[in-house]
Amino acid sequence: MERRIEEARRLLGRSRRIVAFTGAGISTESGIPDFRGPRGVWARFDPDEFSLPNFLRSVHARRRFWQFAAELGALLAAARPNAGHLAIAELERRGTCSGVITQNIDRLHQRAGSRRVIELHGDAETAVCMTCGAELPSSALPERAARNDGDPRCPRCSGILKPRTVLFGEALPEKALAQAEKLARKSDLLLVVGSSLAVQPAASLVPMAHRSGAAVVIVNLDATPSDGLAEVVLHGRAGELLPRLVARG
Ligand code: NAD
Ligand code: ZN
Repeated sequence: MERRIEEARRLLGRSRRIVAFTGAGISTESGIPDFRGPRGVWARFDPDEFSLPNFLRSVHARRRFWQFAAELGALLAAARPNAGHLAIAELERRGTCSGVITQNIDRLHQRAGSRRVIELHGDAETAVCMTCGAELPSSALPERAARNDGDPRCPRCSGILKPRTVLFGEALPEKALAQAEKLARKSDLLLVVGSSLAVQPAASLVPMAHRSGAAVVIVNLDATPSDGLAEVVLHGRAGELLPRLVARG
């Protein structure tokens, strides 16, 4: 392990256009569970019930979804960026990291100081009306939900509200995906952190960057389908490993 950490440190040290690609695993040490770890909220809610078609079709699914969102929202509100988020922000301050591509909706990269963050799965801070496109802050949702038996509706047209997060069965935001692909292609090192790389098309960013000549470094507790094309794979905790990888000296 020590030798591989040293090798990853050397690769990061000589790279000038590092792109971090992160998933739920970078935030577990901030108290937000991923799908596989200690299950927390995911144990009581099956994400499949919240697929976009279900969400639009069924008032029952929406009521369940908003209960789940309230629980997740409480976790997000209590979470603080951890040493892993901070290490990535430090790389950008040094001028050697050209951006972060994240599958997370928790805003912890921004709160850690990262400025160029591409959110592939949206964010939980805003809700959008599916009929007229009106937007309102998520903080307004509990009151609107209470008025309509757990199914918050648009103040303008009574349409269905959806958070600006990507639900299962929903396409990724095109603009964010295109920006992510461009950034990944131009990077000289893709630092993958805390993603099972199980979900497409996001996971395909790794082979894409690799084909364009980027070195790939993976920091994850478990093995991923892209381990084979990585220069270095480190199986361990992001909050412990990343500060060591960016430490100078
Ligand atoms: P995932 O749950 O599929 O995989 C997380 C990976 O992180 C696992 O392989 C696990 O081994 C690893 N991991 C867990 N803790 C770690 C740690 N401390 N250090 C290093 N690795 C660690 O996550 P995914 O690939 O991001 O896909 C899940 C989807 O669910 C995402 O698309 C995301 O949008 C959503 N999600 C988001 C959040 C969040 O915003 N924080 C939380 C849960 C799920
Ligand atoms: Zn509306």
